[in-house]
Amino acid sequence: MQADTELYSGKAKSVFTTDDPDKLILRFRDDTSAFDGEKVEKLARKGNVNNKVNAYVMGQLEKAGIPTHFEHLLADNEALVKRLTMIPVECVVRNITAGSICKRLGIEEGIELNPPTFEFFLKNDALHDPMVNEYHIRSFGWATDEEITEMKKLTFKVNDVLKQLFLDAGLLLVDYKLEFGRYHGNVVLGDEFTPDGCRLWDAATRKKLDKDRFRQGMGNVVEAYEEVAQRLGVELG
Ligand code: C5P
Repeated sequence: MQADTELYSGKAKSVFTTDDPDKLILRFRDDTSAFDGEKVEKLARKGNVNNKVNAYVMGQLEKAGIPTHFEHLLADNEALVKRLTMIPVECVVRNITAGSICKRLGIEEGIELNPPTFEFFLKNDALHDPMVNEYHIRSFGWATDEEITEMKKLTFKVNDVLKQLFLDAGLLLVDYKLEFGRYHGNVVLGDEFTPDGCRLWDAATRKKLDKDRFRQGMGNVVEAYEEVAQRLGVELG
């Protein structure tokens, strides 16, 4: 399958049409961004590691019965996916406090949340992805009641699958962000699942192995992503 025209270029991925109107190509670039694109750097090998980790995780989610857009790998930094109509909200689950919830609620990092908490954010860089609730989503027509219910159900099912998968690799799944889209009338998981969009800590030492290393200028960002891949048994080629 050949990349046709570029449909969209995001902060870390580019999306291309193909000769199949139902399929797109995702190209994972080495670009890394934080703070809504304020901090941007190219980190060698990041596109490759994220593409491979995403392929592995999406495959595990499919096996567990979660519908995803992922089809198969095409190259070191490219994957074929179903063409979804994206729902413009982000679904975040938190198992342990970190990041924006700490700032927003004045809570220290590292507190285990039982039960885990769930938040919706509007995808809008110019507005810094504000938090929204289900009433906003319904009133502004971003998604229907049924789609909201399905997104929450699938996001928590992902938590059940991935918390254990990462724990088996000696990693704590602190939090993560998912995006969904519509495909032939169904709600399907889109976008990516990589250390760019989740927080992963070493289970014994709580060392950060995710994009917080980039956000906080800790260094060894790609090395940490590669450690995640290696612990999951993902071949990087
Ligand atoms: O920043 P915050 O703490 O709300 O992020 C929660 C989780 O969602 C983190 O794992 C972060 O990497 C991810 N996230 C993301 N893209 C965004 C916002 C958050 O991947 N635009």
